[in-house]
Formats: sequence, C-alpha cells, structure tokens
Amino acid sequence: MSPSTDPEVLLPREVPLGGPRAMLVRRTLPHRDRVLIGAWCFVDHYGPDDVSATGGMDVAPHPHTGLQTVTWLFEGEVEHRDAQGVHALVRSRELNLMRAGHGTSHSEVSTPDTTILHGAQLWLVSPEATRDMARDFEHHVPEVTPLDGGEAAVFIGTLASVTSPVQVDTPLVGAEVIVEAGASVTLALDATFEHGVLVDRGPVTVDAGRSAPVAAESGSLVYLEPGRTELTLAAGPDEAGRVLLIGGEPFDEEIVMWWNFIGRTHDEIEEFRAEWEAGAERFGRVDGYEGTPQRLPAPALPHVRLKPRGRLRRP
Ligand code: MN
Repeated sequence: MSPSTDPEVLLPREVPLGGPRAMLVRRTLPHRDRVLIGAWCFVDHYGPDDVSATGGMDVAPHPHTGLQTVTWLFEGEVEHRDAQGVHALVRSRELNLMRAGHGTSHSEVSTPDTTILHGAQLWLVSPEATRDMARDFEHHVPEVTPLDGGEAAVFIGTLASVTSPVQVDTPLVGAEVIVEAGASVTLALDATFEHGVLVDRGPVTVDAGRSAPVAAESGSLVYLEPGRTELTLAAGPDEAGRVLLIGGEPFDEEIVMWWNFIGRTHDEIEEFRAEWEAGAERFGRVDGYEGTPQRLPAPALPHVRLKPRGRLRRP
C-alpha cells in the first residue's frame, strides 16, 4: 500500500449492545473495509446519552476470549464486575483494561448516579504468545498533559513525550486528545505504526501529511497507514474537538472474531461458544450482578464457517 493513499474515513454503523435494555452504540471497527488498526480490533463509541431517556448501560455477564477490553469514558460511571472477582467503578478519563486471555466473563452497568453516559469500548486482540494467559484486570489514571492548542491523556504507549506505565502485548498507542476551539494540535507519530483517529466531538480536521486533510465528523474513524510521522488535528472555530487516537504496529496474525470471542479458527470459536452455553469453568462466574438475565446467551453460529480475517482489505 502506498503511503500517499488518502486517509480512509470509516463511517460508523449503529448496533444495539446486549441485553433487554439494548443501548445503541456506533461501531467503526471491525468495519467492512478494515479489521484491525495495530492490535486494536473493536471500536464502539456511544453517547452523550441522557440515561433518563435511554436507560443507560446494562450488559449482563457475558464471556470473552483472546482479547483485552479497554473501557474509556468521557462522562458517566460504569460498574464493572468480573470472574476474577474484580468489582470496579469505571470513571471518566480512567483506563480500565481487562484481559480475557483463556477466558473470562464480566458485567457492565451504568451507576444510578450517572445522568449522561458517554464513552468508548475498545478491544485489543492478544497475540498468539499471550492469548491463552490467565484473566487479569488493570486500572490506570493518566495525567492530563498540556499541549500547544489542547491537551492529551495518554493511556497506552507513548505520545507527546508521555509514556503510560500500562504494559500491553504488542507496540501500541492510545490517548484522548482535546483540541481547543479555533486551534490545532500537532503530534509526532511513530512511523512504524498505523493509526486511527476516532472523532468524539467534531468536526475535526485530520492532517497527517502526504495527502489532503480530511474533515471528519463525530463518530467517524479516520485510518492512517504506516509511514506518517506527524499528525495535526484542528478544531472548528466555535467548539473544541475531541478524539481518541489509537495506533500500533501492524498485527500480522489472522483472527476469527465472532460475538465476544476472538480465536484463530471456526472450530475454536464453536468450542468457546459451547463452553459458555454449558457454563464451563473457562469463563468463571460473575458474582453480584443483580439484573436479568443472569448471563447473556450466545447467539446461534452462522450457517457458513467463520473465516479468518487479517489486516489487509478483503479482495
Ligand atoms: Mn464485554
């Protein structure tokens, strides 16, 4: 792929998020045109939602394998319970990173005090070397770093000379960047990484050189291929812009991603599904979730075999 390719704007699709009180999220990854950005393999963006109108988030216990969940809130508060016995409050601008590894399960419920819910849920695919590890949970509160024209909260990797202490399995970056109204922020990029700019509050003009800048609306994800060394984000004249910048070294393994599982083959996914339905030990159990149902049943597998997908576009 030539580094002079125009930035690719991935538009979101609306997806109801689990459970009887399904909340609508805007999903940009996986996308018809792209499966991965580094090891980032899933981007759901939601809100700002008035929870008195939408009911907020109530996702009953459900399983995961072979990935890490990254929860990042702009506003509101979510109660997390998992099979490791972790009971944590997820607050705005605090990183919560849950490793599913061999298998885990968790529930996520917005707290009664939450009036506005606004955030993103992202997944990192675990490489072959770590995907069978034991479940784990990590919490980190990044400092806010002032920038010329805005500020950043770096939660994974290095950006603007700030390095997050959070250990991840492959080279990655993840940060919230705010651009003041009428201003722009310029950031150095690791040229070995591919990047994505998820626009939370826009429009934001994304200029990574080598091609024309793109004005991206809220909810869209701008993909930038490797080889870029600098990124300039510009806000409109009247309102500040806010983005999540994600990126990483291209992830070369092919994966099978279905429902809440990541594996490498159809048969492996089928096994994960069967074990979840059977209440197998792989996923442990979540204590303290008070909603119904007590666990989300897995949907039926499609009638065709799931095919591995990788970083390159499908032909
Ligand atoms: Mn989950």
